[in-house]
Amino acid sequence: MNIILLGPPGAGKGTQASRLEADRGMVQLSTGDMLRAAVKAGTPVGLKAKAVMEAGELVSDEIVSGIIDDRLGGLSADQGTIFDGYPRTAPQAESLDTILDAHGRKLDHVIELSVDEDALVERITGRFSCANCGANYHDKFKLPAVEGTCDVCGHHEFKRRPDDNEETVRTRMAEYRAKTAPILPLYEARGIVSRVDGMADIEHVTAAIEAILDGKG
Ligand code: ADP
Ligand code: ADP
Ligand code: ZN
Repeated sequence: MNIILLGPPGAGKGTQASRLEADRGMVQLSTGDMLRAAVKAGTPVGLKAKAVMEAGELVSDEIVSGIIDDRLGGLSADQGTIFDGYPRTAPQAESLDTILDAHGRKLDHVIELSVDEDALVERITGRFSCANCGANYHDKFKLPAVEGTCDVCGHHEFKRRPDDNEETVRTRMAEYRAKTAPILPLYEARGIVSRVDGMADIEHVTAAIEAILDGKG
């Protein structure tokens, strides 16, 4: 199974993708995570992407489609995929069709997480993650069970993304409205779009997505 989680910054794509990865053995493909790894490692892709990401703008279609193609090449045929943060533009959606085809895969579901914009700013400015394993947390909605200790790996250091500030979030939302939301009709025409209320609790959102994947949505 191959699915896309679509939604504006802070909608819960990453949170839900990691839960599906843990529950179902599917592989999370987050272009944001891959780009941040490239920036950290100082690769040529990272050098190109850094300033664009910090401004909240979109990295070029060629770069992100290239990294997705590479990553799919490393998976075995029986591993399902969750696209998190890709595709984000019409050309990326077109490339994804070609790439999936080349890897003998097809798209089963596009799941749109709908959320209201004020909530997004609150979610993003409160977001932090484990500096060791990347597990995701929130100042208000998802604190570690023991304060200052990662639930997953026990590490004590956490980090925040440089682009998770209110000003950049507004730019990222504008990019979503202008370039990403317009790809939905393409998938609607294929009858593969489902909408999930992303304002519900994290567990409820997961349950709604699982129901769709199990054909009970
Ligand atoms: P969020 O999940 O908060 O929306 P991401 O981690 O997906 O953020 O993306 C962070 C940044 O990385 C984006 O603002 C953009 O600069 C870049 N990026 C990630 N995925 C893509 C993509 N598919 N196309 C272009 N840029 C991307
Ligand atoms: P995205 O990948 O779409 O940008 P994230 O999954 O990183 O979004 O979620 C953004 C922040 O909001 C994180 O700190 C996460 O813990 C929190 N969050 C995610 N889903 C929910 C939810 N349903 N209710 C409340 N907070 C949430
Ligand atoms: Zn951790």
